[in-house]
Amino acid sequence: MTDEQLLRYSRHILLDALGIEGQERILATHALIVGAGGLGSPAALYLASAGIGKITLVDDDTVDFTNLQRQILHTQARVGMAKAESGRVALAAINPEIAIVPLQQRLSGAALDALVATADIVLDCTDNFATRHAINRACVHHRKPLVSGAAIRFDGQISVYDLSRDDSPCYHCLFPEGEDVEEVRCAVMGSSRH
Ligand SMILES: [Zn+2]
Repeated sequence: MTDEQLLRYSRHILLDALGIEGQERILATHALIVGAGGLGSPAALYLASAGIGKITLVDDDTVDFTNLQRQILHTQARVGMAKAESGRVALAAINPEIAIVPLQQRLSGAALDALVATADIVLDCTDNFATRHAINRACVHHRKPLVSGAAIRFDGQISVYDLSRDDSPCYHCLFPEGEDVEEVRCAVMGSSRH
């Protein structure tokens, strides 16, 4: 760690449970954040400031004026810009030493699977069940920890599925998909655990 890193992360390093070793693990981590909206914004800001070494930020949408009241990655000056790129600008301003990869695309299929395979942890900050289940399937397949957030009106929910563990449930175990999409259940995705 450089002198500047020791200073930047000194309040982490002071924590007995974290220390230099813990900070080095954070610096070596690649987090995949799917969604740069109301959920992805605070998650990305905190992970970047904490020193997550690489953040891949995926969103196919552009910043809208009506997003600004809650999607705190974005600014009025960046209305119309791709949310992934707007997020990159915000994260780089807080912590220029980390790697940020903005992807303006709707992640699905092989691209989603390949990206999850490269990540150490995946954050589902999306707003629809089809994408949530697709992300879950990829995380089950590659045994990646999945942090799943959801918010509507005044209610919020957060869950962590540690899919590296044999006894962990997955998102689908908790929120099964409807009968019409039975064929894509995680039970047929190469895992017998779910
Ligand atoms: Zn499952």
